[in-house]
Amino acid sequence: MSDKDNTFSTGQIKKISECHSSLGKNNQLAAPKLQRWKDLNQAIIDWMNNDAIEETSIAIAEKNNFQFYDEIQKKILSNLFSKYRELYPKKDTEFEFSYITKDTTQVINNEEYAITSHFTYSYNDGVSTEFVKLKTAHDPDPSLIDRAILTKFRKDNEEYITAALEKNELQDIELVDNPDAIIEQHFEILKSYITNRQKRNPGDHCSICNMASRCGQFPLINSDKITNRVREVKISKTNLVKLNNCERRAAWNVQYGIPREDFVEFETESTATKFHTYTQQMLVNNQNFLDVKNIDLFNDLTTDEEATLRENLFKKYSELITKLKEYKNLKITDSEYQLGFTCIVDGVSTKDGEVIEKKVATIFMGKADLVGRADGVPIIVELKTRPEIPEDLLEAQLYALGASLILRTEEVIVLHVYSLNDQTFNKERRFELSELDSVKKKFIEISKKPASWLPFDALSTRYTIGDWCQYCEFKTTCSEYR
Ligand code: SF4
Ligand code: SF4
Repeated sequence: MSDKDNTFSTGQIKKISECHSSLGKNNQLAAPKLQRWKDLNQAIIDWMNNDAIEETSIAIAEKNNFQFYDEIQKKILSNLFSKYRELYPKKDTEFEFSYITKDTTQVINNEEYAITSHFTYSYNDGVSTEFVKLKTAHDPDPSLIDRAILTKFRKDNEEYITAALEKNELQDIELVDNPDAIIEQHFEILKSYITNRQKRNPGDHCSICNMASRCGQFPLINSDKITNRVREVKISKTNLVKLNNCERRAAWNVQYGIPREDFVEFETESTATKFHTYTQQMLVNNQNFLDVKNIDLFNDLTTDEEATLRENLFKKYSELITKLKEYKNLKITDSEYQLGFTCIVDGVSTKDGEVIEKKVATIFMGKADLVGRADGVPIIVELKTRPEIPEDLLEAQLYALGASLILRTEEVIVLHVYSLNDQTFNKERRFELSELDSVKKKFIEISKKPASWLPFDALSTRYTIGDWCQYCEFKTTCSEYR
């Protein structure tokens, strides 16, 4: 067995593959959803190890592990617990629950490294063993590297199962045809990490990363350093807009992970998404985007689209270029780029069911459509296929402050281009030092809201009823708990 420090779980390898910097020391990310998983796991262990009659062992496990949660989260936990008991009723088998793993090792730079696939439980009936991964997410499939490790080290009397509680089913973990190649590929990811552990690669994964307040991508705006005693909350641009209308709606998304009522497994790519994707492909690092011949190349990207849609997309793109012509020396260097910052204010937390005072860091983040420079000044271009709404100002402020901090500049342009069916128009906002300073103050005020949300108590957040309720993803649950 390799040295503990050289052991990486398959989950850690996934994080490394997205961004090296994302693997860091644990901090106090306010993540009741993760805590719920741990408490559900402990309830299952307590129930399995209690020989009392079924009703009593269930009641004791629920009391010991779910008591500090509010009614909504208790209901979620009890429901998942009952689904597990249905899938795996108590049997006369040997039950294990600690550090059940399968490892693959390789020597890198004269040291042994291991990649480890973890199981939550195992059941042994004396003849064969069932290894179980407990999953509560909508997408319960184990990763490719998990499946490769299991394929390579599987013994004849072993079965590998995922207990997919959201889907209410037990799923056999599918083995793979080429485990060695997959394992090798993942050790290459590990090698690249060992050579440069700090490499930062912002992307969609920032929204689920525990290092966001420390990696430098989302700088602190009102403090020099952050300690491990600070509780953290992450607010995406979409949730920032929701927070503006109703705290409960934002909090249930970002802090409590309350299941959404509008969950859809597959969504067709909308015209707006297509326009974004093709435009980004055309503009990033393209010095010639103003040339007529270059504009025509847009049509080469859309050959698979239906004729009317193609025409519509091309019209929007040509009109966008006309708007961009107004900027001298414009260079677009990146797309879907994460910008934001971190504010630390006084707030609350809970300890053993009691409310305590605690500093809370809120990390505001959003993905800018296009970023670059116009005559040396940082510019962010946001592509909208809907009319202007008041919240676009909030978005512009988030990007402007984020860009000024990470690029250390005192001027930022945010340009919204509205590509509607009958016209294209734009709105430019220039932020200089005094504007950036008021944006900073505004966001410090906003961050007092998440700082007041009590972990474990989803009902501690204020709610505001309004027109927005009709589109809310928690409509039914919310009205039940008002
Ligand atoms: S927040 Fe993003 S850039 Fe920073 S460490 Fe995490 S994944 Fe990397
Ligand atoms: S239904 Fe309305 S009040 Fe309730 S969380 Fe949603 S937006 Fe807020």
